[in-house]
Amino acid sequence: MLTIERLFTMTNIKSLNIGAITGGKGLFSSEDALGVVAVVQLSHPLGVKILEAKISGSEYAMRILGKAVTRFFVGKGYEQSIAAAMGFMVVREVCQVPICSSCNGVGERYSKKFNQLFECQVCHGTGKILLTKNHLANQLSVLCNKTISNHVFNTVYYDDYMQAVDLMYGDEQRAATLARRTLDQTALEIDLGIA
Ligand SMILES: [Zn+2]
Repeated sequence: MLTIERLFTMTNIKSLNIGAITGGKGLFSSEDALGVVAVVQLSHPLGVKILEAKISGSEYAMRILGKAVTRFFVGKGYEQSIAAAMGFMVVREVCQVPICSSCNGVGERYSKKFNQLFECQVCHGTGKILLTKNHLANQLSVLCNKTISNHVFNTVYYDDYMQAVDLMYGDEQRAATLARRTLDQTALEIDLGIA
């Protein structure tokens, strides 16, 4: 079965010439892949860009996302330079999440002593390195080249930051679900010879 990862690898411009691959009876071509992505893009443009950034490491997708999130913060009344810095941080958090080295991104660790799996204590079961509020305050200070204390970050910026992160994750999730559904539908049509 064709995965979403494979779908976005097929639509990555660099790999467009990989040609068609077999999927069931018929062929699922790069054009089919582009068609699926186009359908998803219509309703979840941000989510598609997040998947492209995560799966193909597309810098172009990250730039588009950065601009969109910057506009989100400008719309909330942020000064342009802070909005751009926050946009950069949100995109990096969502698209380039470093994997927890303690559990290798699994979120669980096996205990020999108890002979069972336990939630990883380092990442609290998320499998990712979690950025603390203090990390974020530091990042924003560096990016804006002015001191933003942990207290100011927590009271002024944190809620808006998390709102943007949640919006991004939500659209990514919806884009992935729709991509999966459209992919299955397209594969079925190809198998039935009606695509
Ligand atoms: Zn972990």
